[in-house]
Amino acid sequence: MYLAAAGVGRLGLVDFDVVDSSNLQRQIIHGTKDVGRPKIASARDRLEDINPHVEIETHETRLTSANAMTLFRNYDIIVDGTDNFPTRYLVNDACVLAGKPNVYGSIFRFEGQASVFWAERGPCYRCLYPEPPPPGLVPSCAEGGVLGVLPGIIGAIQANETIKIILGAPGIMVNRLLLFDAWRPGVRRASDDQRVNRLRRILRYYSTARGGPTDYGRNHSY
Ligand SMILES: [Zn+2]
Repeated sequence: MYLAAAGVGRLGLVDFDVVDSSNLQRQIIHGTKDVGRPKIASARDRLEDINPHVEIETHETRLTSANAMTLFRNYDIIVDGTDNFPTRYLVNDACVLAGKPNVYGSIFRFEGQASVFWAERGPCYRCLYPEPPPPGLVPSCAEGGVLGVLPGIIGAIQANETIKIILGAPGIMVNRLLLFDAWRPGVRRASDDQRVNRLRRILRYYSTARGGPTDYGRNHSY
């Protein structure tokens, strides 16, 4: 919604779901009148209402290994709003192969994360989390619940990073992982946090690697 409002010229949406009343607590692009409609149709209407000058392309399909590279080819930046691990790894791997920035965001109950994974410039999602958790171990938003404002907070950060990439602005969140805890905003005890420690080890590895940015890509392990 912020990307449309900012006037980003062409936005592509990939989704195959329909709007359910249980989505409305967190997916505020949809309204009560949209329940039962395809999400991409509802989202397109809302985005065109925000800014009719933006070109919206809708892809009503499940993102798969068979279509990801073809879909991504038409876009400069990929923004990951997925809610499951297989698709998140697929988005990452396709972005690494295509050499495109992956503006990552994820949420779980009361926590959120955001980063920019850009294989030519730093670690990717798989560098941070080499393997997906076993199926069923981590519940989805629909199963585990999520604080409704979290997608808004993390999504706004992703929109901000996307605009920074388009502008060529400094300080893009490559090599950085933002962790947001709704109960303790701004507080992170790094020594207790395996994710932060793991990221630090990765960053030390990257910062000591020699040979320039193109060598980074060779270290992404697949
Ligand atoms: Zn990697």
